[in-house]
Amino acid sequence: MTDIIPSFSQTLEQHELVLQRKQAQILQVNMGRLCNQTCKHCHLAAGPDRKEIMDLKTIDQVIDYQKKCAFKVVDITGGAPEMNPNLIYFIEALSDITGTILLRSNLSALFDLKDDCLISVLKKNRVIIVSSFPSLNQAQADSQRGKGVFDKSIQALILLNQHGYGQEGTGLTLNLVSNPTGAYLPSSQKATEKRYRHILDEKWGIVFNNAYSFANMPLGRFEDWLKRSGNYDAYMANLYKNFNPCTISELMCRNLISISWDGFLFDCDFNLAANLYKGNEKKHLSQTKTCSFVDDKIATDNHCYACAAGSGFT
Ligand code: SF4
Repeated sequence: MTDIIPSFSQTLEQHELVLQRKQAQILQVNMGRLCNQTCKHCHLAAGPDRKEIMDLKTIDQVIDYQKKCAFKVVDITGGAPEMNPNLIYFIEALSDITGTILLRSNLSALFDLKDDCLISVLKKNRVIIVSSFPSLNQAQADSQRGKGVFDKSIQALILLNQHGYGQEGTGLTLNLVSNPTGAYLPSSQKATEKRYRHILDEKWGIVFNNAYSFANMPLGRFEDWLKRSGNYDAYMANLYKNFNPCTISELMCRNLISISWDGFLFDCDFNLAANLYKGNEKKHLSQTKTCSFVDDKIATDNHCYACAAGSGFT
């Protein structure tokens, strides 16, 4: 933790703000750290050599929990969730008990699998695809995510468009998420979306529904890089300088519960990466009786500045 800025909790106090839970609406499920890529900005330091992956027993516990709680949204993330062999089983089991299912994809994993069965299950269940697409520049994207990833991502987007994703009137939603390739804050959501829409359409005829841009989390591989390159203190100072108190009421941790691959509860996927358990208390899904969590305290640390900088990470 850098000591050149106050702690996140001190800053909240200075602004007379309290970060407390509302009714939980979203269940975020991290299916593991296994991934086909080793992105430089990954807050989980996921990659092909990671062994952490959600097993069938934990998946069934999550399904039972969703049956009991009926969270409006189940948000499936990783690593690359496509690499979990039980993903289709999980989605099919969720489909009757969940209003909205989201799948976070790095696109290249979807492309590499070439799994028509997975794509038809995603379509049948109207699963919203939230895909990371960090840069429109091939060299930048490949240097951040790995050689050849940019081309695969483009091919995956074309494939998803062919299946109706991102196309008007199909009800199949394709959203893009970008993040800066260095130690700086993202440009505005509106500007990013406009640029992405124009260039993707002009060059490849690709369409999508929404594009979001978020700051990189000073955790995992990105934190290591910030420290190695001597950028850590300046990056944290910049996040602090851009602290926006208006973001606090809308932070995703207020209405989201995150479950790790081994079934423990966290306030969000970033706290999971930081090993900061929900409300600073280590608890497994199997010991959890409640679905609500209203007024529970949220565990924070200085990486939370990335959620509250500028227009925020909500
Ligand atoms: S990192 Fe998590 S706990 Fe911290 S502000 Fe962001 S969403 Fe909330």
